[in-house]
Amino acid sequence: MQKGTINVQTENIFPIIKKFLYSDHEIFLRELVSNAVDATQKLKTLASMGKVKGEVGDLTIQVEIDKENKLLKIIDRGIGMTAEEVDKYINQIAFSSAEEFVKKYKGKSDADKNALIGHFGLGFYSAFMVAKEVEIITKTYKKGGPTKAVHWECDGSPNYTLDEHDREDRGTEIILHIADDSTEFLEEYRILNLLKKYSKFLPVPIQFGMEKTSEKTGKKDKDGNDEYKELEKPRIINNVTPAWTQKPADLKEEDYKSFYRELYPMNFEEPLFHIHLNVDYPFNLTGILYFPKVKKNIEVQRDKIQLYSNQVFVTDSVEGIVPDFLTLLHGVIDSPDIPLNVSRSYLQSDSSVKKISNHIMKKVSDKLEEKFKANREDFEKIWDDIKVFIQYGMISEEKFYERAEKLTLFKNTQGKYFTFEEYKKHIKKTQTDKDKKLIYLYTTDKQEQHAFIEAASAKGYDVLEMNGVLDNHFINTLEQKFENSSFARVDADIIDKIIKKEDEQPSKLTEKDQEKLKPVFEKFAAKENYSIIFESLSEKDQPVIITQPEFMRRMKDMSKLGGGMDYMGTLPDSYNLVINSNHKIIGNILSEKDTAKQEELAKQVTDLAKLSQNLLKGEHLTEFIKRSIDIITQEN
Ligand code: ADP
Repeated sequence: MQKGTINVQTENIFPIIKKFLYSDHEIFLRELVSNAVDATQKLKTLASMGKVKGEVGDLTIQVEIDKENKLLKIIDRGIGMTAEEVDKYINQIAFSSAEEFVKKYKGKSDADKNALIGHFGLGFYSAFMVAKEVEIITKTYKKGGPTKAVHWECDGSPNYTLDEHDREDRGTEIILHIADDSTEFLEEYRILNLLKKYSKFLPVPIQFGMEKTSEKTGKKDKDGNDEYKELEKPRIINNVTPAWTQKPADLKEEDYKSFYRELYPMNFEEPLFHIHLNVDYPFNLTGILYFPKVKKNIEVQRDKIQLYSNQVFVTDSVEGIVPDFLTLLHGVIDSPDIPLNVSRSYLQSDSSVKKISNHIMKKVSDKLEEKFKANREDFEKIWDDIKVFIQYGMISEEKFYERAEKLTLFKNTQGKYFTFEEYKKHIKKTQTDKDKKLIYLYTTDKQEQHAFIEAASAKGYDVLEMNGVLDNHFINTLEQKFENSSFARVDADIIDKIIKKEDEQPSKLTEKDQEKLKPVFEKFAAKENYSIIFESLSEKDQPVIITQPEFMRRMKDMSKLGGGMDYMGTLPDSYNLVINSNHKIIGNILSEKDTAKQEELAKQVTDLAKLSQNLLKGEHLTEFIKRSIDIITQEN
């Protein structure tokens, strides 16, 4: 038996391994199973080159729990190791890389530690996060020479023993003596969940325990139904050829859908469409991205894109790896070229990651363009479900804006869709104002702004529906992009002021009249922050109209979404009370001698205006109803 001390020049890293990464102790299983997969893949390659004598046999990797003896075993039938190899790979190479990882890790703040992607790089020695003692029993595939199996053992101190062993079978068995504070890893459900998390798509079958299934016996029961028998069979954790590793030509639409269900078993909605990624130069990248129906609430995303590295699950938080707006998509990205032992903040500056991220963005916009060109009608049908995604991309990524601007749609209140160009043409004649500015009218709520939409339509204007979560931000982006254009909500002002025309109606009220009338309204309106404005509108327009100036309203709406202007949200709403100088009733109010009656009328017309904006609530609404009944009673 050989005894030795693992190459330790500096300090003993075992206690450090044990202590840190505390929240991520579970990754040890991923590391060990990945090693088993690597060894098996290597064997397959050698066998295919004719370098393995005899049959390779069943290559299934076994994961076993021996609860009584507090053991967890990972057993493979891969290439195995000779004694020299154990010394070289385990005692030296693996140890130094673990040491290096520890050193790098120790210098980091907690935030940086958490930002490490998937905590890659600790390798074999991560076993000591959960084990007080680790054994390796391994027999090389090589024939001839000293090929007896070897037994390595280390008790979590830098001392190890290396001995011969009588294992007959080729391959490696890793035995963990689970530490007393880590007994959770002896629980079947815990290991099962971990295997499902990290190993669901590994390329070599992994067996963990048995499972019950039922199978047709071939016989029928007395009612003529198929007879089934229960049987137990090995429980295989993984799908060794997940859809993204296959050729798109070999997959049908249904295969993509069933893979989606495999990825997100708890999601019962179907994706809208998918993109199969497949690059091998200048970087390696495969994957499938799905377009889900993007929810209104984009903050809460349960199903996320999963990142894999050669079919090993790394993480489902891909922030920093792809642009933020792409994280709204679902699916899988697999790239061994994404550096995994670095922090996210580093990633953003990494040039290969940038390339990958740009490539994905390009593929996504290509796909959208293809959909748009293939069938406009179908594209319009999915538009409402992908709109948030596209707007997010256009707001946040200049490059994506350029690619998506041709296929982005506006929808008007009649439910008709237009591209930017089409819409410009559509409103150019009617909505260019006297300053030659093109005015886009929109509503954020067809119900609440109904009266204003009607008023605009009556004048032949078109109104866009902008009721999405990001529409406010999107409008800002568009105003920066579109030349000589601006957006105004239908109630931002009276319509003739929004789209400024040359000629104005003569006013029936003189300035003196206005001065007399103003305080009548001000008496109650000022309390509610309404500014009073006289306008000479048509006699047929409403006597009083309440408008909400565009700028303030938009800023406030944006601050609600968290645009960094939180103080805006705390400001009171500000409204304009527009009095139509030419309406008959305004003239009546002016000439009313009874001041109580005068105020009552002024209140009544103001409340009607509020009512049409859905601003009349609570006490004021009750008062209004009472007053209305009084007025009707008086007159009849
Ligand atoms: P990495 O897998 O990144 O190389 P590890 O620390 O996980 O680092 O493993 C170190 C080395 O030990 C591997 O590169 C491999 O040569 C060897 N090894 C580990 N596990 C096995 C195994 N199950 N079968 C054969 N060789 C193994």
